[in-house]
Amino acid sequence: MSKSKREPSYFEAPAETIVIQEIDPLPQLEQVVRDYAYKNTSIVMRIDYQATTVLLNRHGMAGCLHRLCTDLGFQNPKLGQQLVDRFPKDGLAWLVRALTIYVHNAEKLAELGVDHAAVLRRLLKMVERGVLTQPGAAENGFENEIILCGGWMQASLCATPLNVEPAVLKRLNGLYFPGGLPGKRQLIGTLDPGLLRSGMQTALTRVLDEQLKPWTPPPGEKLERVDFTEMAKIADFLQGFVCTVLTPFPLAYADGPLYQAPYSGCLASSEEVTVDHDTLLGWMSNRGTRVGRDDVYGSPMKAANFHPGRPADQEVLDQIYADLLGEPEFAGKVARLINHTPQHASADGMTYLLPCYPNPAERPREIWRWRMTRTLIHEFMHRITHPDVVGAAGKVDQPQILKEGFVEVFTALVLRRLSDRAANDPELCTLILGPGTPFTPPPAAYLKAGYGQDGVDAQTITNEIGLGQVAIGYFLGDVKRLAITEPQ
Ligand SMILES: [Zn+2]
Repeated sequence: MSKSKREPSYFEAPAETIVIQEIDPLPQLEQVVRDYAYKNTSIVMRIDYQATTVLLNRHGMAGCLHRLCTDLGFQNPKLGQQLVDRFPKDGLAWLVRALTIYVHNAEKLAELGVDHAAVLRRLLKMVERGVLTQPGAAENGFENEIILCGGWMQASLCATPLNVEPAVLKRLNGLYFPGGLPGKRQLIGTLDPGLLRSGMQTALTRVLDEQLKPWTPPPGEKLERVDFTEMAKIADFLQGFVCTVLTPFPLAYADGPLYQAPYSGCLASSEEVTVDHDTLLGWMSNRGTRVGRDDVYGSPMKAANFHPGRPADQEVLDQIYADLLGEPEFAGKVARLINHTPQHASADGMTYLLPCYPNPAERPREIWRWRMTRTLIHEFMHRITHPDVVGAAGKVDQPQILKEGFVEVFTALVLRRLSDRAANDPELCTLILGPGTPFTPPPAAYLKAGYGQDGVDAQTITNEIGLGQVAIGYFLGDVKRLAITEPQ
């Protein structure tokens, strides 16, 4: 409003801070005191910048930030000035509001057990990252961002009671121990090692050939390369779309990867995956578990009485994998397929995507575009899975329910919403299917949780416990909501 006065203003420093000189105009904070309620939650946020305005006018930005940080329990007399020196005006305007809100609602946050030091750390990380929603943004974007990024939503969701009968949780927990709970009566008879060997060999050889077939180009031709700039655009769209469809759960994980680099910055070609002994074994174990319980592949694990929680059975299985990989032709095919298999690498946070389109005689292009989109969603779900879920997978007999099953439940849900929207949104249809391709729906199988029995089990748990509860478990690491119970 007042453009005329551009003189530098000098503020008196509060006694406890160093002398400050600020030349940027101070942000004009909204003076109406109001309560903002986040939809479908019990969160009510008091927004009151009156005291902060007084602080700003008296002590300048540095002094004001210092005071707010002190109120959050952070003792560093130089912090206010350091922040002013480091961050741009917009970032400081956002931060002073965010801190005010967390200071003014401290009591509610304390009841939820929110750690103030963690709040401050998260807010500073947001300012550092520089992708900020300013007040007045559409659909309460600013207010929602403050609630999500500081950890308020996370604490509130994790405080939601889990109203599921203990007997139901116990029954569902049994899905993670298909051979019987540890220390209880075991449900699977003695392993038939010969049957397991022949069955797994047949199933794995078959799945290997099936999955390699599309990667042989038509005679005399080359496979069409995937344009990774196009994938990057789809990836960033999907990041936003996933957060919208599954709101508020993924963004509630305040320390999670959604507050780090965008999805598009973490894409690479599966050709770049280094194939070594560990990756070969990883493929065997992942695919083996997948086909071992699948009737389409003769369920060799079930047929041979394989018990995933019996160390002796696991040893036999490991030996079968080692022997198969000892055959150069088999190992060569696995190596080739690994470079044609999308994956999320938790070590570096990268998502490896397929570098080519398959032979068009094997897979029509528009169907493959849906497949690529589905893969981008699936790998993104791995990216935003809470680490405690992966940790919990190490303590059950059937870890793939946690690692892949729930990923598939959420992937299928997001793809259903995406397909519905793309059917009526030409711009989105072009993004997903490519320019000039009329809308074609994805195959029905893509709209259901895949990964065989592991996807089925995760879907069963979701249906019984409820999607909201499972989402708290999955994205925020409260694993009891995934029917992970303490050993009885
Ligand atoms: Zn996966």
